[in-house]
Amino acid sequence: MSVESLFPRLEPVLPLVSKPIQYVGGELNASLKDWDSVAVRWALMYPDAYEVGLPNQGVQILYEILNERDWILAERTYAVFPDMEKVMREHDIPQFTVDAHRPVKAFDVLGVSFSTELGYTNLLTALDLAGVALHAVDRADDDPIVLVGGHASFNPEPIADFIDAAVLGDGEEIVLAISDIVREFREEGSPGGRLELLRRLVSTGGIYVPRFYDVDYDADGRIDAIVPNDAAAPDRVAKHTLMNLDEWPYPKNPLVPLAETVHERFSVEIFRGCTRGCRFCQAGMITRPVRERSLQSIGRMVEGGLEKSGLDEVGLLSLSSADHSEIGELATQLADRYEGTNTSLSLPSTRVDAFNISLANEFSRNGRRSGLTFAPEGGSERLRKVINKMVSEEDLIRTVAAAYSHGWRQVKLYFMCGLPTETDEDVLQIGELAKKVIDTGREVSGRKDIRCTVSIGGFVPKPHTPFQWAAQLDHESTDARLRKLRESVQSDKKYGRAIGFRYHDGKPGIVEGLLSRGDRRVGRVIEAVWRDGGRFDGWSEHFSYERWEAKSAEALAEFGVDLDWFTTRERGPEEILPWDHLDSGLDKDWLWEDWQDALDPDPVEVEDCRWTPCFDCGVCPSMDTDIQIGPTGKTLLPLSVV
Ligand code: SF4
Repeated sequence: MSVESLFPRLEPVLPLVSKPIQYVGGELNASLKDWDSVAVRWALMYPDAYEVGLPNQGVQILYEILNERDWILAERTYAVFPDMEKVMREHDIPQFTVDAHRPVKAFDVLGVSFSTELGYTNLLTALDLAGVALHAVDRADDDPIVLVGGHASFNPEPIADFIDAAVLGDGEEIVLAISDIVREFREEGSPGGRLELLRRLVSTGGIYVPRFYDVDYDADGRIDAIVPNDAAAPDRVAKHTLMNLDEWPYPKNPLVPLAETVHERFSVEIFRGCTRGCRFCQAGMITRPVRERSLQSIGRMVEGGLEKSGLDEVGLLSLSSADHSEIGELATQLADRYEGTNTSLSLPSTRVDAFNISLANEFSRNGRRSGLTFAPEGGSERLRKVINKMVSEEDLIRTVAAAYSHGWRQVKLYFMCGLPTETDEDVLQIGELAKKVIDTGREVSGRKDIRCTVSIGGFVPKPHTPFQWAAQLDHESTDARLRKLRESVQSDKKYGRAIGFRYHDGKPGIVEGLLSRGDRRVGRVIEAVWRDGGRFDGWSEHFSYERWEAKSAEALAEFGVDLDWFTTRERGPEEILPWDHLDSGLDKDWLWEDWQDALDPDPVEVEDCRWTPCFDCGVCPSMDTDIQIGPTGKTLLPLSVV
């Protein structure tokens, strides 16, 4: 049955809302398909505003892969701003896709990509606006399957009540497998209804369906057991790993936004995964092993994407782009190819973990030398050993000296506060490092206008990392530590204005911590916060810590646990973690040993298995995968560049 466009109802209300262009669709390279000509229909959602969601690589890749099949249709939907939500409720307009403005409720699958847990309340808004029951168990047979992916899906327990299914890992192949299952099920006349479809999904072993697992708790609040309650459900659900990136060169036809977005460049993922082993880094841990894209494939993607989109900036994306085994060749060849054109090249990742100045010089050939960002993450050498960020002060100073002497005037240093074992002294070292950077810059450049910006984020322990057992630092202590740092730098007139500070208070990190390491009981908090008006929690102007604090106290009281229990409490080795049944491939014993190595008075460092023998993290044998990198014999200097 055909589904009508909602646009005739939407158009008259657009003048009433802010940034109406974000709801209009029709971007270059968007896809419009006839509803009745396909067998399976996906609504893909990035649970944030259009300006943040449109550039998202994951959504763009899946959108293109699905739409390439003539029997599948995929459209996009984003979180609507609160003013639009109000207007939609007043005019009875349901959550819609921006492509053909079809109601989300009419689709077979609503696929939601979560890169951050702070988007959870936006999922609830979208479901409610769509007319889809908030709780999975209350949904009707013809409601869409609400399926989540992205990094947050490695612990979807806090949203277990609201989703039908979750997939872990790379989405390229699994979205097609899911589409096949849905098509076959529909062709058979949907026997057994929604429950049977979910059973078919869970029986693949690679799709998690929370309702097929029971969670029991001990009297002290800890989890007693997580057990499947359906014969089709496996004990552990495995992540997906795409093993040949060259065979999946997406996006080929990048979407060109109509409205302003957070970045407007064509991004090419040059490799996936990272084995640097930074102990705080969930992205690195859950995307192992490293799989590189070949130079030829990257070259073709850059050329094709620029031609199809008209964009003039290329971002070479990955968790640590300067670590590509042929990054030097790649930089030189791309810079040669686009020299004298308007095309600029960048390494946009702040998690880049290797750097050399000739590389930065190549990337800036067509552009300005505005600023470079390095991420030592920890202020003191001791703390950098704890987090396994193997960069010495000497490395850092040598690199910034080279940068300043090659014409850069601005260096940005990224750190975290609240890392395990951290003391006030470790954080004060951040200021000392920044002062040395300024001294070095002034000395090598002979100039006074050298600047260094120190940017600090609060550390949030994440599932599937060696720090998953750690106590998170409470927000009062985080704020106090950062205040001391600021005072110590600003009191020194010699550097006062040369060093800038950027940091947020510690409160959003505590909520992120609750949502990252929470279990199913946290779903009550999310729902209570949403019912009280919580929206766009990743936006400081919308975020209310007081609301999360109050609702946590109310909703968790009956379970005998609270906000602190989920965040500032250290876990022991025997504790069953809410995500233990979700298999990232990492061996839990190895993670625990790595955590103990971090806590050692002389912390044990772990090398990158790209350049050293395998250290048995467990991923390759359990996932039947291998490291895929090009020829290389050396480690690049472990610093970061943006
Ligand atoms: S199993 Fe070995 S080679 Fe594979 S990612 Fe882990 S440490 Fe590296």
